[in-house]
Amino acid sequence: MKIIHTIADIRDFVRQARGKSLTVGLVPTMGYLHVGHLELMRRAANICDTVIASVFVNPTQFGPGEDLDRYPRDLERDARLAEGAGVDAIFNPSVEEMYPAGYCTYVDLERITEKLCGLSRPGHFRGVATVVTKLFNIVKPDCAFFGQKDAQQALVIKRMVDDLNLDLEIIVIPTVREADGLAMSSRNIYLDPEQRRAALVLYRGLLKGQEEFRKGERDPAQICRRVTEMIQAEPLAKIDYVEIYSHPDLVTVERIQGPALLALAVKIGSTRLIDNILLGV
Ligand code: AMP
Repeated sequence: MKIIHTIADIRDFVRQARGKSLTVGLVPTMGYLHVGHLELMRRAANICDTVIASVFVNPTQFGPGEDLDRYPRDLERDARLAEGAGVDAIFNPSVEEMYPAGYCTYVDLERITEKLCGLSRPGHFRGVATVVTKLFNIVKPDCAFFGQKDAQQALVIKRMVDDLNLDLEIIVIPTVREADGLAMSSRNIYLDPEQRRAALVLYRGLLKGQEEFRKGERDPAQICRRVTEMIQAEPLAKIDYVEIYSHPDLVTVERIQGPALLALAVKIGSTRLIDNILLGV
């Protein structure tokens, strides 16, 4: 497996693959890989002949005061894990390589970014859409793989690909969880043992919402209330949002009549965690 740091070299790598008529899959990540990431890579290796995983902690998707500087990084470990999952090349550019002096072009989506994490993290999806567009243009993959764990992100990317007529397929992989239900995340490393226990309340909250839905509740406000009550019972948890929208449009609904996304963001100490579940699918 190759580790490539420049845009010129990754383009060269892709050109060689294309020369052999190989299909190319891209798995964008910020590194510090866990089994959720590896699942994306394995799926990519099943579907595409050549798999490129990007490892890039993208500064433009972090707001002031967020964890950009302390975000965990370990390229050596990532390389080992990615290779085992069938990745052919890691693209690990520097910030200067991606955003050279004078950089001033951004990709912005309306509406779909004006809720959930888009509200709590202003500018976040502008950074995500921009870096993903750049990665798509650099690698020109046939398929790109994203996780349902970041449900709004996956919908934003799909919307962007449709709106801008980008010529690739977006494949979304189900959320991979720890044995006790906590969604895997590079940020879980921030949690001390007590917080790690408290963090389970996110999944318990989602299961509560699912149970209410299965019992026949179709009022989003009512379901969110029950989920909120459950999370508030955990003293270490501070809710950012608990919301339900139609899926995949992310439109507010009075009653749940089709597929819906129950999404939540909760701070455990200073660590902000997100999770979600689909209702009615
Ligand atoms: P990140 O490195 O956190 O930016 O994530 C890179 C990709 O992995 C994104 O498409 C995420 O949605 C996906 N991902 C992260 N955690 C999980 C998980 N627990 N299960 C499935 N996909 C995940």
